[in-house]
Amino acid sequence: MSMNATETTNHYLTQAFDLLELSPRYKTLLLTPSRELRVEIAIELDDGNIGNFIGYRIQHDNSRGPYKGGLRYHPDVDLDEVRSLASLMTWKTAVVNVPFGGAKGGIQVDPTKLSRRELERLSRRFIDQIAELIGPDTDIPAPDMNTNAAVMAWMFDQYSKRYGFSPGVVTGKPVELHGSLGRDAATGRGCLIAIREVLAAEGKKLTGTRFAIQGFGNVGSWFARLIHAEGGRVVAVSDVKGGISNPDGLDIPRVMAHLKATGSVVGFAGATPISNEELLTCACDVLVPAALGHVLTRDNAEKVQAKWVVEAANGPTSMEADQIFERRGIVCLPDIWANAGGVTVSYFEWTQNTQKFRWSEEQVNRELDKYMVDAWRSIQTMMKERRCSMRTAAFALAVSRVKEATDLRGLG
Ligand code: GLU
Repeated sequence: MSMNATETTNHYLTQAFDLLELSPRYKTLLLTPSRELRVEIAIELDDGNIGNFIGYRIQHDNSRGPYKGGLRYHPDVDLDEVRSLASLMTWKTAVVNVPFGGAKGGIQVDPTKLSRRELERLSRRFIDQIAELIGPDTDIPAPDMNTNAAVMAWMFDQYSKRYGFSPGVVTGKPVELHGSLGRDAATGRGCLIAIREVLAAEGKKLTGTRFAIQGFGNVGSWFARLIHAEGGRVVAVSDVKGGISNPDGLDIPRVMAHLKATGSVVGFAGATPISNEELLTCACDVLVPAALGHVLTRDNAEKVQAKWVVEAANGPTSMEADQIFERRGIVCLPDIWANAGGVTVSYFEWTQNTQKFRWSEEQVNRELDKYMVDAWRSIQTMMKERRCSMRTAAFALAVSRVKEATDLRGLG
C-alpha cells in the first residue's frame, strides 16, 4: 500500500532521526504540528448563490522563528496534504537557515472555475477567517500553487484593514506594493543554483545539459527561462494541458510567447506533443518535477532516464520511487533544499518590510546564491560524514537545527 503525503514526509524524517540517533523524547514533538485550523469560507458568487469552501492553516513548528509558508488553491487540498507541506516548510527554512518555522495552508477550490472578483472575495474572506492566527511576527503566508502576487496584495490589504498597515504579514507581494525584486523568479533561480552546484561537484556544467520540466507555472517557467539563458538545453516542458518536446532543445523565449498568446505550451510549433507521464520518463539528464506532489511513484521510477531529479515541486517523489532512485544511482535534489529559493527571498522581502528599505535585484540574487550555496556546503558535509543520501542529509541538517532551537528555548 502506498503512503499518504504525511506518512511519506514522516518516513523521510524518521530516517534523519535514526541517522542522528535522536533521543526518542523529541520524535513526537518534531512530527506533530503545533496547531491546525480548518475554516469554512462562504462567499457570494457572481450569480447570487453562496459558494462554500473549506480552508486550512497548519502551523507545524516555530522554534526557530515565526511560522512561514504558502497558501495553495487546488481541488486536492486536504488535511493530509497541508500537514505534510507544513512540516516540509519547517525543514526547508531550517536547511537554508532563515529565521522562520514552518506552516502551510490552502483552500480546496478549483480557481479556474471562479471569476477574478470571486477569487478576490474568497481570498479576503479566508484572511478574515485566519487573521487571529497570522501576523508579521507570528505566521507569514506566501504564494504557492495557483496563488500569486495579486492574491497576496488582497491579503495584505484585508489584514491591514483590521490591524493597520502590515506589509510583513504576507510575502510574495507585488513589487509595486512592498514586494521584493527577484521574489517572482526566486524559486526557479534557487533550483538553478542547486543543480549548478551539484553538477559542479561532479565537474559538470549547465551548458549542454538536457532538462525535462514538468509544470510551467511560476517555478517551472522561471526555471526554464533561467536554464535556457545559462546555456542548458530544455528538451521537454509541460503544463496541465499536456507537453512538448524537442531533443535539440526548445526555444524557451518563443515557448513563453506561445504560452502568453494561447494559455498553454501545447501546440507550440517546432516540437513534438508529449504527455505529462511521458515527460517524466523521456530522455534527459535532469528531470524537474515542478507541479504536483507524488508524481514519481513505483509505477514510473524504473523508467526514469534522468541522472538527477530536481524537486522543484514539494513532495514529488514517493517513498517507493525514492528507494528505486537510490538503488539506480539517480540523485534526488530534495525539495527542502532545491526549492527553498522562494522562502529565502520571502525572508529578504520580510526584512525589507521590517527595515522599510528596498534592496536592489542584484543584492537579492547575490544573497540568494549565498544562502543556497551555504546550505549545499552543510548538506555535502553531512553526506560525507554520515554516508547518506542528499535527502537524508538535508533532513538531518534541518532536524539538528530545529532540535537545537527547541533545546535552547526549553519547554517550560
Ligand atoms: N510556497 C513556497 C514554498 O513552498 C514559498 C513559501 C514562502 O515563501 O513562505 O516554499
